[in-house]
Amino acid sequence: MNKLCPCGSNQPYTECCEPIISSKKEAATCEELMRSRYTAFTTANVDYLMRSHHTETRPVKEAVSLKRWAASVHWMGLAILDKEAGQVTDDTGYVEFRALYLEAGQLQQIYEKSFFKRENQKWVYVSGIHFPKA
Ligand SMILES: [Zn+2]
Repeated sequence: MNKLCPCGSNQPYTECCEPIISSKKEAATCEELMRSRYTAFTTANVDYLMRSHHTETRPVKEAVSLKRWAASVHWMGLAILDKEAGQVTDDTGYVEFRALYLEAGQLQQIYEKSFFKRENQKWVYVSGIHFPKA
């Protein structure tokens, strides 16, 4: 059984985000890392969310509440809207995305431009700017 990856890539989960989340392979681009982090949100995999976060901005104190929140909402999908750099040969990159979820019966979204960097050669999430809901 090949279930499709939650990140919306139309790839099987086992060939998309799963190998990245389970450390079998590194994200080659910051978009791959972004997708794997969304997928980790859908399974409330906070260990991975922390591991894929830059050590300088990693929200360790929020890990427990983040896990509770991620597990309490129903993740509806991810749309990558734009990206800058973040390719195999880059050291920094940006990804703009929308992530949709249902919380208490209401459709909500995260609309964010995320900044990624390499730390010890691996892509990690550094920070994000949230846009107003539109
Ligand atoms: Zn995926």
